[in-house]
Amino acid sequence: MKNYRVLCVLLLAISAAAPSATAEQRKTQPPRSVRLYVFDCGSLDIPDVAPYQLKKEELATTVMSVPCFLVAHPKGTLMWDVGAVPDSAFKPGGGAATLRYATSARPLAARLAEIGYAPADITYLAFSHFHWDHVGNANLFASATWLVRKLERDIMFADPPSPRTEPANYSALKNSKTVIVTKDDYDVFGDAAVVLKSTPGHSPDHQVLFLKLAKTGPILLSGDLYHYPEERKLNRVPTTEFNVAQTVASRAAVEAFLKKTRAQLWIQHDFTANAKLKKAPEFYD
Ligand SMILES: [Zn+2]
Repeated sequence: MKNYRVLCVLLLAISAAAPSATAEQRKTQPPRSVRLYVFDCGSLDIPDVAPYQLKKEELATTVMSVPCFLVAHPKGTLMWDVGAVPDSAFKPGGGAATLRYATSARPLAARLAEIGYAPADITYLAFSHFHWDHVGNANLFASATWLVRKLERDIMFADPPSPRTEPANYSALKNSKTVIVTKDDYDVFGDAAVVLKSTPGHSPDHQVLFLKLAKTGPILLSGDLYHYPEERKLNRVPTTEFNVAQTVASRAAVEAFLKKTRAQLWIQHDFTANAKLKKAPEFYD
């Protein structure tokens, strides 16, 4: 009788352990070549376009897109920009959530889960810059290694905090494993396929992300080097840049780089262009 009970307890323990073992096995395998997943992390209803040195009539739309990106590399993963509205702002039961003038339809973690990733699976986290509409879900990725340039990290933990960000949404990064990026070009996985490029101006240590994809070819993710595509066409620089001269120089360097590499520039806040991008679970490779 006693042995039977021990056996039952053992069987129960095994069956209880089984689901997590299966979940472990189901964990997404690294891809053989680099993939780029684009997530819809919402939109910005820009209240006033005057700071962009543009008139409403000059713009196709005043709305900006807020994409989030996952780069899946054979050697690990990188999240690039993590939206404006934190997952914690969503109420159970569904529906959109807002922060300032941003709206998002669904939590980022739910979108990641759809393609088999949990925030804890992510190897690296990087932002184009520290502004609130790029760091919304930073706390989700506190277990990743944070790749950040010094002036950005300094401003993120400055006292008093900058009004251009939401410190509560990235507070957990203070204790994250952190790499302070000092090189202008930082090769994330060591094979020149995923490179952070210094482009200061919009913020003190703003950066863009260069990707080399086997089928799609080279892509440059803009961060906020430009916001509206009309800024690029009409050569306008927002008045709210951290340093206008730096922005002008960074834009010139990027335009030369695009010419040299024949890379596509994806302006992250370009609502019309972003709407045409394939979204996860589809991907670019
Ligand atoms: Zn932005």
